[in-house]
Amino acid sequence: MIDLNQVSKRYKEKIVVDSVTIPIEKGKLTACIGPNGAGKTTLLEMVSRLVPKDTGEIYIDGGEIKSWKPGELAKKLSVLKQSNKFSMRLTIKELVSFGRFPYTKGRLNAHCHELIEQSLNQVGLFEIADQYIDTLSGGQLQRAMIAMVLAQDTDYILLDEPLNNLDMKYSVQLMDIIRKLVDGFGKTVITVIHDINFAAAYADNLIAMKEGEIFAAGPVEKIITQQNIKNIFDIDVEVIDRKGKKFVMYY
Ligand code: ADP
Repeated sequence: MIDLNQVSKRYKEKIVVDSVTIPIEKGKLTACIGPNGAGKTTLLEMVSRLVPKDTGEIYIDGGEIKSWKPGELAKKLSVLKQSNKFSMRLTIKELVSFGRFPYTKGRLNAHCHELIEQSLNQVGLFEIADQYIDTLSGGQLQRAMIAMVLAQDTDYILLDEPLNNLDMKYSVQLMDIIRKLVDGFGKTVITVIHDINFAAAYADNLIAMKEGEIFAAGPVEKIITQQNIKNIFDIDVEVIDRKGKKFVMYY
């Protein structure tokens, strides 16, 4: 369980996350939605300690994030950031191997090799694992980054815009992988996602943010309503119910 209590962040005069209090259910897929600039990335960055919060507390399995040692936190929680720049010349396999660093400090054991191979297979990069990452397409690099997160094999997985650069096939594949991580392996996944229909189709819970605050949070079926979408994104949509799933028609 991740628990946020009155968490705030400001950049200069601007409050970008404003006293957010929310429990994030363990063993579920929670999607964070909302317009650009709502504070979604900042919220994820604070949970993963990539940026410090100004006020409030964030508990992961009961321990405030300040009390987690970096090495221990890296075994508990992994994070896929939005943009990744590398100055090192690395192969895909070497990059994915970094996911095992918190456990082995670079000395890969048999279990590591197994997880690395499995992660590469899951994202469809096994065949080109020895290719250098500076030769990859945006979508391939994104999948390599995801494989690194999978290899880290943590209870909590934070993903910021994981569908960035992915075509329809790989978007569906990745969402299926994420669902399997939750349903089959008991992982807790929190993901920022722009495509409202991917969020609605795959997530258990939604957190809708607007102007640094939580506008609405709860199970998908409760949050995806015409009025909520209008209030969150300021657009008129139609919400369709099909085979028990919600679809937002926005064009
Ligand atoms: P979202 O992920 O919902 O698009 P962000 O968390 O990225 O929103 O950003 C929220 C607000 O905080 C935006 O107005 C953004 O410009 C601002 N912001 C984010 N990071 C920084 C930073 N490092 N310095 C100054 N302002 C920032």
